[in-house]
Amino acid sequence: MTKVIGLAGGIGSGKSTISRYLTELGAVLIDADKAGHEVFTDTEAWRELVVAFGQEILTPGGEIDRKKLGEVVFGNAESLSRLNKIIRPRMIALMKARIEEYRRQGANMVVVDCVMPAPPEVIRTEGRWTPQVDEVWVIAVSKATVIKRLKEQRGLEEEQAVARMSSQLSDEERVKYADAVINNDGDLDEVRAKVKELWKRLEVV
Ligand code: ATP
Repeated sequence: MTKVIGLAGGIGSGKSTISRYLTELGAVLIDADKAGHEVFTDTEAWRELVVAFGQEILTPGGEIDRKKLGEVVFGNAESLSRLNKIIRPRMIALMKARIEEYRRQGANMVVVDCVMPAPPEVIRTEGRWTPQVDEVWVIAVSKATVIKRLKEQRGLEEEQAVARMSSQLSDEERVKYADAVINNDGDLDEVRAKVKELWKRLEVV
């Protein structure tokens, strides 16, 4: 039977790294971020977004400019909520269809790499994308480690890293909804071993 894992963690917490280790072990990956981008190309979503936020969110070619859209909603709770109302149901439907497809193909394990920028009440229900997610694995990592990694490996300024982290849920909030917690403060070998251990646990369940 297919096991579906929702992988959650803040910016720079190690979602891509851990997803990669899981795919090496045989999991298939659904990149929620990429799927999210597809939603913006849906004609009906396009129309609703333009009605809600105006022509200023479009590229010269008439496509949704996600960067401009981000600027419009950033720090504005009401706009963010409007955006979520348009995007979230479509996102959930898309994820559900993808998961179903992998189930039909008989995949052993499906990992959904999701960021979970949503409030806790949403995580509990919709944030699990669908009740089809069997477990939520949360990556916990100290702020100091994330800042160091983002500075060294992505060239982000400390203030940028802090601003992005503080616009997301805290690890304390995330771990409340976790079936398993992966600490990623250690080195890559350590986290790889932890992932393998969790994988083995699932295999025997
Ligand atoms: P984003 O939210 O921005 O997509 P992410 O959660 O996918 O980020 P990664 O890209 O996996 O995070 O990791 C962020 C950076 O930290 C990468 O450069 C990665 O190589 C590095 N990294 C992740 N885990 C470790 C680790 N245990 N030791 C050293 N570097 C790490």
